[in-house]
Amino acid sequence: MIDNSESGCLMHKYDERDVLFSRVSLKKGTKEYDEFYQKHPEYREIDDTLRGRNFRDALKGSSYFKEVYMPLLNQNKEYIKQVFFAGYDKEVASKRVPLGDDFVDQLKVITKYFGATDVGLAKLTDYEYYSHLGGLSEELGFETYGEKVLPKYKMAIVYTVEMDQEMINRAPHIEELLETERAYVKVAEVASKLTMYLKGLGYQAFGNNSEYYLGPMVPIAYDAGLGEIGMGNHLVTKEYGDRVRLGAVFTTLELPVDEPIDFGLEAFCKICGLCMINCPSHSITHKTRKVNGRTFYKFDDQTCYNMWLKGGTDCGTCIQSCPFSQGLDLTKVNRMKDNPVLMQELFDKHLKKYGRRNYIKKPLKIVALKEENDGRN
Ligand code: SF4
Ligand code: SF4
Repeated sequence: MIDNSESGCLMHKYDERDVLFSRVSLKKGTKEYDEFYQKHPEYREIDDTLRGRNFRDALKGSSYFKEVYMPLLNQNKEYIKQVFFAGYDKEVASKRVPLGDDFVDQLKVITKYFGATDVGLAKLTDYEYYSHLGGLSEELGFETYGEKVLPKYKMAIVYTVEMDQEMINRAPHIEELLETERAYVKVAEVASKLTMYLKGLGYQAFGNNSEYYLGPMVPIAYDAGLGEIGMGNHLVTKEYGDRVRLGAVFTTLELPVDEPIDFGLEAFCKICGLCMINCPSHSITHKTRKVNGRTFYKFDDQTCYNMWLKGGTDCGTCIQSCPFSQGLDLTKVNRMKDNPVLMQELFDKHLKKYGRRNYIKKPLKIVALKEENDGRN
């Protein structure tokens, strides 16, 4: 992983060009490719083996592949594109509706009404934005590689969208990919509706979605108090673990923001480690690193992505493995901080019920296999 962020208390600017998806989309022989790997020669060799391959192609080679899957998957990006422009193109109302600080709670309810599972507000500083874009919004028709990101907005409305447990418990099979994409569509819908709403109130707004981010989502979701950062570097919520996708609308509207929460996840992860143990590519480690004051974990994005290329889905075994994703007793979770005995009790109960992970082999009807466990082990 490009880990130029291990800077102790130094502040780090995220750069989308460092993100693996941006790196592997670079084309050999281009100026962008040459410039990037001159700066980061250590990533060239492995990135080259991952370059130009679509992980969905591996699905086509699997024993249970059916042609009916591909439109089901491919239409999501097309739909997100349409939804994105509904918010992006809307004009800002010329007259602002005056809003008091007490609008916060109402705004959260409205965001849930649009389809979010949980909502929080976070302040945006320059460090929550990418310094430069990595060109990942190409599908939307933008040519943004290397474009500087201007920190135009001061606040983010950040939200989660829950992913279905039954689908995620089939990870790493196609149900997991379908559910991930369904959640990304919902994230995009909420982003667009909220963007339109804020513009209608007279405030500028930008709806981040899986096709266009102005900054990484996990740090601001943490700041907005939606959860803590777990060993897999995902946001882990108390109620749904990391079985959620994240979205955020950046806006010029300014309201009182939320604070990060601490329910004791860092200590719980030390007891648990299931995402690390179950990861088929050994990409997750227990070694912590501080980035802009937040605790993350060292992670190998190249081995993880290689696993996607082999399996044909975005795997999701780590998400399925998290005890919080399977549901823990919330009253006990709320009391577990600084209480290792209670944490151990929660973990032991989870292990007794599900073992190392709650993997369910039997396919769901949506993938309509003739033979129940065809191709699965
Ligand atoms: S998605 Fe799969 S391969 Fe990647 S970190 Fe999670 S468990 Fe490991
Ligand atoms: S699976 Fe365990 S170690 Fe990994 S994020 Fe969840 S609680 Fe932490």
